[in-house]
This record gives sequence, C-alpha cells and structure tokens, in this order.
Amino acid sequence: MNAEYDMVIIGCGPAGLSAAINAKARNKHVIVLGGNFCSPKLHRSPRIDNYLGLPGISGEELRQRFLEHVEKAGVSIRKCKVISVFPQDGSFLIQTEEEEPYSARAVILALGVTARTALPGEKEFLGRGVSYCATCDALLYKGKTTAVLAYEKEAEEEAKVLAGVCQKVYYLPQYKDRPGNSLGDNVEIIEAEPTVIEGEKLVEFLNLGQERLQVDGIFIVRESVPVEQLVPGIKMSGKFIQVDSDMAANVPGIFAAGDCVGEPFQLAKAVGQGQIAALSAAKYLS
Ligand SMILES: Cc1cc2nc3c(=O)[nH]c(=O)nc-3n(C[C@H](O)[C@H](O)[C@H](O)COP(=O)(O)OP(=O)(O)OC[C@H]3O[C@@H](n4cnc5c(N)ncnc54)[C@H](O)[C@@H]3O)c2cc1C
Repeated sequence: MNAEYDMVIIGCGPAGLSAAINAKARNKHVIVLGGNFCSPKLHRSPRIDNYLGLPGISGEELRQRFLEHVEKAGVSIRKCKVISVFPQDGSFLIQTEEEEPYSARAVILALGVTARTALPGEKEFLGRGVSYCATCDALLYKGKTTAVLAYEKEAEEEAKVLAGVCQKVYYLPQYKDRPGNSLGDNVEIIEAEPTVIEGEKLVEFLNLGQERLQVDGIFIVRESVPVEQLVPGIKMSGKFIQVDSDMAANVPGIFAAGDCVGEPFQLAKAVGQGQIAALSAAKYLS
C-alpha cells in the first residue's frame, strides 16, 4: 500500500490542478494521479483569449504555469492511470497500473472527457474476460490467448507484459504509429477495428467484422477508463458525472469537477469547479 492521503485527485488537467492547490491551501495531505501527460487538451489549445487576465496565452504556456504552480505548492503528481476506486471502511482504495494501491478519505474526479464510447460487449464482460490493466490481471490468463485493443501507444508495454505470460497475444493498434520493435514472438499484430465482444458467460470472441478472434481475455487500453467502470455505483447524467452545487457525487466522499461533469467545456469553469470540489472535500473531511 502507498501512503494514505486525505485526498486523491484523479486527473491532472486544469480542474485537477486547481483542486490540488486548493486542497494544499487547506493543509490536506493530497496527491494527484494523472495520465502520461497533463493535459493533452490544454497543450493542443493554440491561443486562449477568454481566460481572465491572460488574453492571448497559448495552451502550452498556461499548462507550464499550472504545473509550476502545483510544484511550488508542494503537491506531487504521479504519472499513472487509475483503474478503479472502491469504498473500503470509510475510505477509498484507488488501484492504478502500479502494483501498490493508494488510499484516501476523499477522492476528486477531474478526468476530462473522451470522445470514444465503449465497445459493444465491453461493459457486459468487464471482469469476465475484459480488463483495463495487464499489470493487474495478466496472471489470470497464464497460458491462454488474449487480445490487446490499443487506443494509445502505451499499450505496447501492456502487450509485452502479456507476452511473457500468455500463450498467444493479438495486438490491435487503433493509433497512427506502429510498434517499432517486436512486442514478443507470440504477439501477432492485426490491423482491424473490432465491432463487438462476444461470448456466453465469459469472453470467447473478438469480432472484427470479417473474422472473429477466439480469445480468453481482452485488454482495452485507452487514455481513460469509462467513469461507471472506474467508480462502481456512481450516478451519471447521460455521459457526465452527476454532481450537486458542492461538486459532490452521489457516493459520499467523491467529488468531481471540469469537463467530466458536463458542458461548457471551458478552462475557467474547470478551474473554478476544481476549487469548489477541493473546498467541499476539505469540509467533508473535517
Ligand atoms: C483545441 C482546443 C482548444 C481549446 N480552447 C479553449 C479556449 O480557448 N478557452 C477555454 O476556456 N477552453 C478551451 N478548451 C477547452 C479546455 O481545454 C478544457 O475545457 C479543459 O482542458 C478541461 O479541463 P479538465 O481538467 O476538466 O480536463 P482535461 O484538461 O481533459 O484533463 C483531464 C486529465 O485527466 C487525465 N485522466 C483521465 N482519466 C484518467 C485516469 N483514469 N487516471 C489518471 N488520469 C486520468 C487525462 O489524461 C487528462 O490529463 C480547448 C480545448 C481544445 C481541445
């Protein structure tokens, strides 16, 4: 187990980073668990004209300033993807791709939004052959056949982990580049877009339209994990996390902010909601 925290913030975009400095200002023991890069959206904004006091700033410059601010405030950011958040004895157990989970009494979700929707069959077979984390679940498939549905390059590392354990691994890259080096002798790269996951009780096939791959397990690697899978029991309003005016979700101790709670998808709103979420979480803790 990693150290125990008052608050864990998931996501290192404007909402998560704003929550971080405000949690620290309330003297909370806090850590940010973010993806590989904080935040791709902000980085891609060429010019921002509607952020108060900084007209014409580029997204990248603002991103650097946000990160510097958080570093100066003394909050650590870990580059790791969170796989699940489970309530446990009045606190939460936060599982990442690292082996050791994190524990916190309050959690702030600042996940942003992704355009990608779940693959048909993905939700139904979660935990019954569908997984989001090879490091966590590879051993369940020792000597078996698995597929990696790779929406980002980071999945190559997951495929290598599986290659060392499974009899056969199909690797289906859905991003632009292709693996430079071999992923393993037992890894077959397949250029196809899956349409549906099929099986009776457990996963049996990954349907590619023209053909079906017979598999025991499917590992889906995206920038983020669908929210309902990340936090079981969380209430959604369509695609977004449902929150009240304190940015509290329906699960006591869980708060959310930024694009993941709904439109408008705008910086100032994300930063403001991150602050409210942190102050509400601090109040909840005391
Ligand atoms: C091209 C472009 C131009 C824009 N221009 C403007 C503009 O001019 N003005 C304006 O107000 N807004 C603009 N926006 C919108 C603005 O960038 C977003 O509203 C803002 O970034 C939302 O912040 P966020 O923190 O909610 O989400 P994000 O910035 O998307 O950050 C979410 C972070 O969470 C991480 N994450 C997700 N899931 C997990 C997980 N399971 N574990 C760990 N980390 C995870 C992601 O990797 C990401 O880093 C623009 C957006 C784009 C794409």
